[in-house]
Amino acid sequence: MGTVQEVRIAKRTGFCYGVREAIDKAKEASAAGKQTHTLGQVVHNEGVVRDLQDLGIKTVDTLDDVDHGAAVVIRAHGVRPDVMARADARGLEVIDGTCTWVIQEQKELRKLVEDGYTIVLMGTPTHPEVVGLLGFAPDAIVVDEEEEWDAAIPQRKRMALISQSTQPPWKFEKLAALMVSRAHELKVVNTVCPVTIRRQQDTLETAGEVDLMVVVGGRSSANTKELTRLCEIAGTPAIQIESVRDLEDPAVFAKAEIVGVTGGTSTPIEDLRDVAERILILAGTPEASAKAAEFAGAALQRAATPAGRTTSLPTTTRPIVESGAA
Ligand code: SF4
Repeated sequence: MGTVQEVRIAKRTGFCYGVREAIDKAKEASAAGKQTHTLGQVVHNEGVVRDLQDLGIKTVDTLDDVDHGAAVVIRAHGVRPDVMARADARGLEVIDGTCTWVIQEQKELRKLVEDGYTIVLMGTPTHPEVVGLLGFAPDAIVVDEEEEWDAAIPQRKRMALISQSTQPPWKFEKLAALMVSRAHELKVVNTVCPVTIRRQQDTLETAGEVDLMVVVGGRSSANTKELTRLCEIAGTPAIQIESVRDLEDPAVFAKAEIVGVTGGTSTPIEDLRDVAERILILAGTPEASAKAAEFAGAALQRAATPAGRTTSLPTTTRPIVESGAA
């Protein structure tokens, strides 16, 4: 018999606006009858990728895999400027799904380069957003984990600090504090995305109310990993899963009475409901297990109260059939 009486879903979860926009743009292009591709997976979420594939939207790793004249959607992380230029040169229709926040980061970086600053970019060097940003500031020093900072940050007259959008605010502040002593003039451009900040706050709030947190999102998703880490820092045990299928072992929930669920910015909120239901079936008390669907639906409703919910389920857009078309 399980012990879980209740599952709580963190507020303001679901897709962030950047991810949702990129998905919607791909769907709109496909619905308009265009041969549509996304350059890289638009989100690291199997269900969403399958949904897009069902609409005929292909994921490609390089522009060489896109036929002349076809549409290519740039995902929310953005790309280097030379990738955009190459897409144009190849005669592709570029549908720019770069998040407006990332576009702002790119503009800020360009300006810092023009102004002659030595730039420190806090982020994961291999993350697509950072790879794209480096196209705007190829000489920027990229730093990630705290242990690297001391050796990586030089002493310069004029330095600037900027961040990958999904880095945690506390880390950004800490790095800024260290850099104060390394530069005569330090310019701090805070590009930590507000959605990320809100999500971390709401996840921490939920973590403070429960015995165990389940964090749902892609294994390579930077913001998902950060949510898991934050729960642990706050003293609440947390497990990270990619999807409901990863939940098989009821022992994970041993003794937990209230479990919290949160998700990264590329996890649809409906996946969180499915995870809540699965937890209740797997490890719920007899009553909670018997009413798993009802309890999970109620948890979603509570999380999705006005202003609590940021996104909607990516419904399948059917192709538009022009009248008279064959
Ligand atoms: S996390 Fe923020 S910056 Fe990144 S895509 Fe979402 S809204 Fe844009």
